[in-house]
Amino acid sequence: MQELPSSVEPARFALCADAIAEAARELALLGWTPATSSNFSMRVNEELAAVTISGRDKGRLGREDIMLVDMAGHAVGTRARPSAETELHTQAYRRLPHAQVVLHTHSRTQSVASRLFAREGVVRLEGWELQKAITGYTTHASVLEIPVFPNTQHMPELVERVDAWLDAGKPLHAYLIDGHGIYTWGADMAEARRHLEALEFLLGCELDLRRLSA
Ligand SMILES: [Zn+2]
Repeated sequence: MQELPSSVEPARFALCADAIAEAARELALLGWTPATSSNFSMRVNEELAAVTISGRDKGRLGREDIMLVDMAGHAVGTRARPSAETELHTQAYRRLPHAQVVLHTHSRTQSVASRLFAREGVVRLEGWELQKAITGYTTHASVLEIPVFPNTQHMPELVERVDAWLDAGKPLHAYLIDGHGIYTWGADMAEARRHLEALEFLLGCELDLRRLSA
């Protein structure tokens, strides 16, 4: 049972929880959240985020499957356990002030692409019209770099790699984790969904190109 701190209006929590649950159900239908994997969150206010509870089937989420965490990833007002990768969500909210929604999925395309590009450590997208779906990109002629970080069960290592990329001043709109999946975000649910769908499409195109030119 989620108890709400005085800083969170019930209507605000309900709005965030419903938006997360709806997005998760739709992404599950696409097959991007197999076997209870993937996690989703939304910034509730400066100090708190709503995030999926660990281990729930993402195709069947309701309001009761969403919980509050602070920006260090600790549960607030509940004994439920947040998704194992919550630290990556709260890092995005700490480091990227415009991020209001963080989406993490494990589609087949994302998983295969992450393996294929792991050695280079980056997917370099160039020449695709759909790059314009990423906020700030206005032409297919731009270069969109999606880093691929090594997978680990030790979240602080991943947090460090993401920090290092950002500290180097490189643009970051999403990242892949090797053999695992993708993280992306947006200023609202619609933008985060657009980014996720565009990247899924672009990674699929890169895989097809390699298949056809082999
Ligand atoms: Zn994951």
